[in-house]
Amino acid sequence: MDTQTLVAAQGLARTFGGNRAVDDVSLALHKGEVLGLLGPNGAGKTTTLRMLAGCLAPTRGRVEINGVDMARAPTRAKRGLGYLPERPPLYPELTVDEYLRCCARLHRIPRRQRRDAVASAKRDCGLSQVGQRVIGHLSKGFQQRVGIAQAIVHRPDVVILDEPTVGLDPNQIREIRSLITRLGTQHSVLLSSHILPEIQATCSRVVIIHRGRVVFDRAMDAIGGDDEALTLRLGLTRAPGAGELGRIEGVTRVQQRQDGLWQLDCAAQADPRAAIAARAADAGWGLYELHAQRRTLEEIFADLTSRDAAREAA
Ligand code: ATP
Repeated sequence: MDTQTLVAAQGLARTFGGNRAVDDVSLALHKGEVLGLLGPNGAGKTTTLRMLAGCLAPTRGRVEINGVDMARAPTRAKRGLGYLPERPPLYPELTVDEYLRCCARLHRIPRRQRRDAVASAKRDCGLSQVGQRVIGHLSKGFQQRVGIAQAIVHRPDVVILDEPTVGLDPNQIREIRSLITRLGTQHSVLLSSHILPEIQATCSRVVIIHRGRVVFDRAMDAIGGDDEALTLRLGLTRAPGAGELGRIEGVTRVQQRQDGLWQLDCAAQADPRAAIAARAADAGWGLYELHAQRRTLEEIFADLTSRDAAREAA
Protein backbone atom coordinates (compact mmCIF):
# COMPACT_ATOMS: atom_id res chain seq x y z
CA MET A 1 0.00 0.00 0.00
CA ASP A 2 1.19 3.50 -0.84
CA THR A 3 1.51 5.42 2.41
CA GLN A 4 2.73 8.73 1.07
CA THR A 5 1.84 11.38 3.65
CA LEU A 6 0.18 14.37 2.02
CA VAL A 7 -0.81 16.32 5.12
CA ALA A 8 1.19 16.10 8.32
CA ALA A 9 0.19 18.15 11.36
CA GLN A 10 2.35 18.07 14.48
CA GLY A 11 1.24 19.40 17.86
CA LEU A 12 -1.12 22.05 16.50
CA ALA A 13 -2.54 24.49 19.01
CA ARG A 14 -4.50 27.70 18.68
CA THR A 15 -5.82 30.06 21.32
CA PHE A 16 -8.27 32.93 20.87
CA GLY A 17 -7.75 35.34 23.75
CA GLY A 18 -7.80 33.06 26.77
CA ASN A 19 -9.77 30.31 25.02
CA ARG A 20 -7.82 27.29 23.81
CA ALA A 21 -9.77 26.21 20.70
CA VAL A 22 -7.18 23.62 19.63
CA ASP A 23 -4.87 22.20 22.24
CA ASP A 24 -2.73 19.47 20.71
CA VAL A 25 -3.65 18.02 17.34
CA SER A 26 -1.35 15.75 15.38
CA LEU A 27 -2.71 13.93 12.37
CA ALA A 28 -1.69 12.63 8.97
CA LEU A 29 -3.57 12.28 5.71
CA HIS A 30 -2.17 9.63 3.41
CA LYS A 31 -2.50 9.29 -0.32
CA GLY A 32 -5.80 7.71 -1.33
CA GLU A 33 -7.53 8.34 1.99
CA VAL A 34 -10.81 10.04 2.77
CA LEU A 35 -10.24 11.08 6.36
CA GLY A 36 -13.15 12.21 8.51
CA LEU A 37 -12.58 14.66 11.33
CA LEU A 38 -15.44 14.01 13.72
CA GLY A 39 -16.24 15.94 16.86
CA PRO A 40 -19.03 17.60 18.80
CA ASN A 41 -19.86 21.28 18.27
CA GLY A 42 -17.01 23.48 19.40
CA ALA A 43 -14.48 20.61 19.46
CA GLY A 44 -12.03 22.56 17.30
CA LYS A 45 -12.64 21.02 13.86
CA THR A 46 -12.98 24.26 11.91
CA THR A 47 -10.01 25.83 13.67
CA THR A 48 -7.91 22.74 12.87
CA LEU A 49 -8.94 22.74 9.20
CA ARG A 50 -8.23 26.47 8.88
CA MET A 51 -4.71 25.86 10.18
CA LEU A 52 -4.21 22.88 7.85
CA ALA A 53 -5.41 24.98 4.92
CA GLY A 54 -3.01 27.80 5.80
CA CYS A 55 -5.81 30.30 6.56
CA LEU A 56 -5.00 30.63 10.23
CA ALA A 57 -1.59 30.64 11.87
CA PRO A 58 -1.18 28.11 14.69
CA THR A 59 -0.14 29.36 18.11
CA ARG A 60 2.06 26.26 18.26
CA GLY A 61 2.90 23.30 16.04
CA ARG A 62 3.49 22.86 12.32
CA VAL A 63 1.77 21.77 9.13
CA GLU A 64 3.35 20.21 6.05
CA ILE A 65 1.53 19.68 2.77
CA ASN A 66 3.26 17.05 0.67
CA GLY A 67 6.50 17.75 2.53
CA VAL A 68 6.28 21.56 2.16
CA ASP A 69 6.17 23.56 5.39
CA MET A 70 3.09 25.80 5.51
CA ALA A 71 4.75 28.48 7.66
CA ARG A 72 7.93 28.68 5.59
CA ALA A 73 6.56 28.30 2.06
CA PRO A 74 2.80 28.96 2.22
CA THR A 75 2.30 29.63 -1.50
CA ARG A 76 4.04 26.41 -2.50
CA ALA A 77 2.28 24.40 0.22
CA LYS A 78 -1.15 25.72 -0.78
CA ARG A 79 -0.58 24.84 -4.43
CA GLY A 80 -1.15 21.21 -3.49
CA LEU A 81 -4.38 21.81 -1.67
CA GLY A 82 -7.98 22.89 -2.24
CA TYR A 83 -10.19 24.14 0.60
CA LEU A 84 -13.91 24.54 1.04
CA PRO A 85 -14.54 26.56 4.21
CA GLU A 86 -17.69 26.12 6.29
CA ARG A 87 -19.22 29.07 4.39
CA PRO A 88 -18.46 28.57 0.69
CA PRO A 89 -16.48 31.54 -0.67
CA LEU A 90 -18.90 32.26 -3.53
CA TYR A 91 -19.71 35.43 -5.46
CA PRO A 92 -23.48 35.13 -5.91
CA GLU A 93 -23.65 37.71 -8.70
CA LEU A 94 -21.24 35.80 -10.98
CA THR A 95 -22.16 32.89 -13.23
CA VAL A 96 -20.65 29.50 -12.41
CA ASP A 97 -18.29 29.78 -15.39
CA GLU A 98 -17.18 33.32 -14.51
CA TYR A 99 -16.54 32.35 -10.93
CA LEU A 100 -14.63 29.16 -11.70
CA ARG A 101 -12.53 30.92 -14.36
CA CYS A 102 -11.65 33.53 -11.75
CA CYS A 103 -10.68 30.77 -9.27
CA ALA A 104 -8.57 29.07 -11.94
CA ARG A 105 -6.72 32.35 -12.44
CA LEU A 106 -6.18 32.79 -8.71
CA HIS A 107 -4.74 29.29 -8.64
CA ARG A 108 -2.37 30.39 -11.39
CA ILE A 109 -3.53 27.86 -13.95
CA PRO A 110 -1.96 28.99 -17.26
CA ARG A 111 -4.47 30.83 -19.50
CA ARG A 112 -4.49 28.11 -22.19
CA GLN A 113 -5.38 25.39 -19.70
CA ARG A 114 -8.10 27.30 -17.84
CA ARG A 115 -11.02 26.35 -20.07
CA ASP A 116 -10.22 22.63 -19.72
CA ALA A 117 -9.62 22.94 -15.97
CA VAL A 118 -13.01 24.63 -15.45
CA ALA A 119 -14.79 22.11 -17.71
CA SER A 120 -13.24 19.21 -15.84
CA ALA A 121 -14.10 20.61 -12.36
CA LYS A 122 -17.68 21.21 -13.54
CA ARG A 123 -17.88 17.68 -14.92
CA ASP A 124 -16.57 16.19 -11.66
CA CYS A 125 -19.10 18.17 -9.63
CA GLY A 126 -22.12 17.66 -11.89
CA LEU A 127 -22.22 21.31 -12.94
CA SER A 128 -21.79 20.96 -16.72
CA GLN A 129 -25.37 22.06 -17.40
CA VAL A 130 -25.33 25.17 -15.19
CA GLY A 131 -22.20 27.03 -16.33
CA GLN A 132 -24.24 30.03 -17.51
CA ARG A 133 -26.41 30.23 -14.39
CA VAL A 134 -25.91 32.98 -11.82
CA ILE A 135 -24.63 31.38 -8.60
CA GLY A 136 -27.07 33.29 -6.37
CA HIS A 137 -29.98 31.71 -8.29
CA LEU A 138 -28.83 28.13 -7.73
CA SER A 139 -30.14 25.84 -4.99
CA LYS A 140 -28.00 25.43 -1.85
CA GLY A 141 -26.92 21.96 -2.99
CA PHE A 142 -25.70 23.29 -6.33
CA GLN A 143 -23.98 26.22 -4.62
CA GLN A 144 -22.17 23.69 -2.45
CA ARG A 145 -21.06 21.85 -5.59
CA VAL A 146 -19.68 25.14 -6.94
CA GLY A 147 -17.81 25.53 -3.64
CA ILE A 148 -16.31 22.07 -4.11
CA ALA A 149 -15.51 22.80 -7.77
CA GLN A 150 -13.43 25.85 -6.76
CA ALA A 151 -11.51 23.58 -4.35
CA ILE A 152 -10.56 21.10 -7.09
CA VAL A 153 -10.22 23.29 -10.18
CA HIS A 154 -6.39 23.26 -9.92
CA ARG A 155 -6.31 19.44 -9.42
CA PRO A 156 -4.78 19.51 -5.91
CA ASP A 157 -3.55 16.34 -4.26
CA VAL A 158 -5.44 17.26 -1.09
CA VAL A 159 -8.99 18.53 -0.74
CA ILE A 160 -10.17 19.89 2.63
CA LEU A 161 -13.93 20.21 3.12
CA ASP A 162 -15.39 21.79 6.25
CA GLU A 163 -18.88 20.41 7.02
CA PRO A 164 -19.67 19.96 3.32
CA THR A 165 -23.29 18.90 3.79
CA VAL A 166 -24.41 21.30 6.50
CA GLY A 167 -27.75 22.98 5.72
CA LEU A 168 -28.59 20.68 2.80
CA ASP A 169 -31.76 18.62 2.38
CA PRO A 170 -31.53 14.79 2.46
CA ASN A 171 -31.37 14.44 -1.35
CA GLN A 172 -28.67 17.09 -1.62
CA ILE A 173 -26.78 15.41 1.22
CA ARG A 174 -26.84 12.10 -0.67
CA GLU A 175 -25.57 13.78 -3.83
CA ILE A 176 -22.73 15.60 -2.07
CA ARG A 177 -21.74 12.38 -0.27
CA SER A 178 -21.48 10.48 -3.51
CA LEU A 179 -19.53 13.40 -5.00
CA ILE A 180 -17.08 13.16 -2.07
CA THR A 181 -16.73 9.42 -2.64
CA ARG A 182 -15.92 10.11 -6.32
CA LEU A 183 -13.43 12.82 -5.33
CA GLY A 184 -11.73 10.29 -3.10
CA THR A 185 -10.74 8.25 -6.17
CA GLN A 186 -8.67 11.15 -7.55
CA HIS A 187 -7.69 13.21 -4.52
CA SER A 188 -6.99 12.63 -0.86
CA VAL A 189 -9.82 14.19 1.10
CA LEU A 190 -10.03 15.53 4.63
CA LEU A 191 -13.53 16.47 5.72
CA SER A 192 -15.09 17.52 8.98
CA SER A 193 -18.49 16.66 10.34
CA HIS A 194 -20.35 16.14 13.57
CA ILE A 195 -22.69 13.68 11.84
CA LEU A 196 -21.68 10.06 12.39
CA PRO A 197 -23.46 8.47 9.40
CA GLU A 198 -21.79 11.02 7.15
CA ILE A 199 -18.34 9.93 8.27
CA GLN A 200 -19.33 6.26 8.05
CA ALA A 201 -20.70 6.69 4.53
CA THR A 202 -17.75 8.53 3.05
CA CYS A 203 -14.53 8.00 5.00
CA SER A 204 -11.81 5.36 5.06
CA ARG A 205 -10.42 6.64 8.37
CA VAL A 206 -11.81 8.60 11.26
CA VAL A 207 -10.16 10.97 13.71
CA ILE A 208 -12.27 12.06 16.67
CA ILE A 209 -11.42 15.44 18.13
CA HIS A 210 -12.72 16.55 21.50
CA ARG A 211 -11.87 19.75 23.35
CA GLY A 212 -9.13 20.53 20.89
CA ARG A 213 -7.38 17.17 21.17
CA VAL A 214 -7.28 14.00 19.08
CA VAL A 215 -8.87 11.29 21.20
CA PHE A 216 -9.25 8.56 18.54
CA ASP A 217 -7.67 7.75 15.18
CA ARG A 218 -8.51 4.51 13.35
CA ALA A 219 -9.21 3.00 9.93
CA MET A 220 -12.95 2.66 9.42
CA ASP A 221 -12.76 -1.05 8.58
CA ALA A 222 -10.91 -1.74 11.86
CA ILE A 223 -13.84 -0.37 13.89
CA GLY A 224 -15.97 -3.20 15.18
CA GLY A 225 -13.17 -5.65 14.26
CA ASP A 226 -11.14 -7.96 16.49
CA ASP A 227 -8.90 -5.14 17.78
CA GLU A 228 -11.87 -3.17 19.07
CA ALA A 229 -12.56 -3.34 22.79
CA LEU A 230 -15.38 -5.62 23.93
CA THR A 231 -18.55 -4.52 25.67
CA LEU A 232 -20.24 -7.28 27.71
CA ARG A 233 -23.87 -7.48 28.73
CA LEU A 234 -24.42 -9.62 31.81
CA GLY A 235 -27.59 -10.96 33.37
CA LEU A 236 -27.09 -11.99 37.04
CA THR A 237 -29.84 -13.02 39.46
CA ARG A 238 -27.55 -12.51 42.48
CA ALA A 239 -25.19 -9.78 41.28
CA PRO A 240 -22.23 -9.05 43.58
CA GLY A 241 -22.31 -5.26 43.02
CA ALA A 242 -20.46 -2.90 40.70
CA GLY A 243 -17.30 -2.80 42.83
CA GLU A 244 -16.62 -6.51 42.57
CA LEU A 245 -17.50 -6.66 38.87
CA GLY A 246 -15.14 -3.74 38.26
CA ARG A 247 -12.26 -5.62 39.86
CA ILE A 248 -12.38 -8.41 37.26
CA GLU A 249 -9.20 -8.22 35.22
CA GLY A 250 -9.70 -6.46 31.88
CA VAL A 251 -12.91 -4.66 32.92
CA THR A 252 -12.59 -0.87 32.71
CA ARG A 253 -16.13 0.31 33.50
CA VAL A 254 -19.30 -1.12 35.00
CA GLN A 255 -22.80 0.27 34.59
CA GLN A 256 -26.18 -1.12 35.52
CA ARG A 257 -28.61 -0.66 32.64
CA GLN A 258 -32.25 0.29 32.93
CA ASP A 259 -33.32 -3.24 31.94
CA GLY A 260 -31.43 -4.62 34.96
CA LEU A 261 -28.53 -6.06 32.94
CA TRP A 262 -24.95 -5.07 33.67
CA GLN A 263 -22.75 -3.49 31.03
CA LEU A 264 -19.03 -4.10 31.37
CA ASP A 265 -16.62 -2.20 29.12
CA CYS A 266 -13.33 -4.00 28.60
CA ALA A 267 -9.81 -2.83 27.84
CA ALA A 268 -8.55 -3.30 24.27
CA GLN A 269 -7.38 -6.90 23.70
CA ALA A 270 -8.96 -8.08 26.97
CA ASP A 271 -11.58 -10.85 26.94
CA PRO A 272 -12.70 -11.67 30.49
CA ARG A 273 -15.70 -13.81 29.45
CA ALA A 274 -14.28 -17.14 30.61
CA ALA A 275 -13.12 -15.61 33.91
CA ILE A 276 -16.57 -14.12 34.51
CA ALA A 277 -18.35 -17.41 33.79
CA ALA A 278 -16.00 -19.26 36.18
CA ARG A 279 -16.41 -16.63 38.96
CA ALA A 280 -20.19 -16.59 38.50
CA ALA A 281 -20.32 -20.40 38.87
CA ASP A 282 -18.01 -20.41 41.93
CA ALA A 283 -19.74 -17.55 43.74
CA GLY A 284 -23.32 -18.42 42.73
CA TRP A 285 -24.08 -15.12 40.90
CA GLY A 286 -26.84 -16.85 38.89
CA LEU A 287 -25.49 -15.99 35.42
CA TYR A 288 -28.34 -16.21 32.91
CA GLU A 289 -27.02 -14.01 30.11
CA LEU A 290 -23.56 -13.17 28.76
CA HIS A 291 -23.46 -11.29 25.51
CA ALA A 292 -20.39 -9.69 23.92
CA GLN A 293 -20.12 -7.13 21.18
CA ARG A 294 -17.43 -4.91 19.74
CA ARG A 295 -17.99 -1.18 20.11
CA THR A 296 -19.54 0.68 17.19
CA LEU A 297 -18.34 4.10 16.07
CA GLU A 298 -21.39 5.61 17.73
CA GLU A 299 -20.51 4.02 21.07
CA ILE A 300 -16.88 5.01 20.74
CA PHE A 301 -17.89 8.59 19.99
CA ALA A 302 -20.37 8.73 22.88
CA ASP A 303 -17.85 7.18 25.23
CA LEU A 304 -15.08 9.62 24.33
CA THR A 305 -17.11 12.80 24.11
CA SER A 306 -20.05 12.51 26.50
CA ARG A 307 -18.45 11.52 29.79
CA ASP A 308 -17.14 15.05 30.39
CA ALA A 309 -20.50 16.51 29.39
CA ALA A 310 -22.27 14.23 31.87
CA ARG A 311 -19.82 15.20 34.58
CA GLU A 312 -20.36 18.91 33.83
CA ALA A 313 -24.15 18.51 33.92
CA ALA A 314 -24.02 16.76 37.30
P1 ATP B 1 -18.75 23.41 15.08
O1 ATP B 1 -19.03 21.98 14.75
O2 ATP B 1 -19.79 23.99 16.00
O3 ATP B 1 -18.50 24.28 13.88
P2 ATP B 1 -15.92 23.14 15.63
O4 ATP B 1 -15.54 21.78 16.12
O5 ATP B 1 -15.67 23.41 14.20
O6 ATP B 1 -17.44 23.43 16.00
P3 ATP B 1 -14.42 25.51 16.18
O7 ATP B 1 -15.28 26.36 15.27
O8 ATP B 1 -13.05 25.21 15.71
O9 ATP B 1 -15.15 24.15 16.56
O10 ATP B 1 -14.35 26.27 17.57
C1 ATP B 1 -13.62 25.77 18.69
C2 ATP B 1 -13.68 26.80 19.80
O11 ATP B 1 -12.95 27.97 19.41
C3 ATP B 1 -15.07 27.28 20.13
O12 ATP B 1 -15.15 27.46 21.51
C4 ATP B 1 -15.18 28.61 19.40
O13 ATP B 1 -16.08 29.48 20.05
C5 ATP B 1 -13.76 29.13 19.47
N1 ATP B 1 -13.42 29.98 18.32
C6 ATP B 1 -13.34 29.58 17.04
N2 ATP B 1 -12.98 30.61 16.23
C7 ATP B 1 -12.83 31.70 17.03
C8 ATP B 1 -12.47 33.06 16.82
N3 ATP B 1 -12.15 33.51 15.61
N4 ATP B 1 -12.42 33.86 17.90
C9 ATP B 1 -12.71 33.41 19.14
N5 ATP B 1 -13.06 32.14 19.43
C10 ATP B 1 -13.12 31.29 18.38
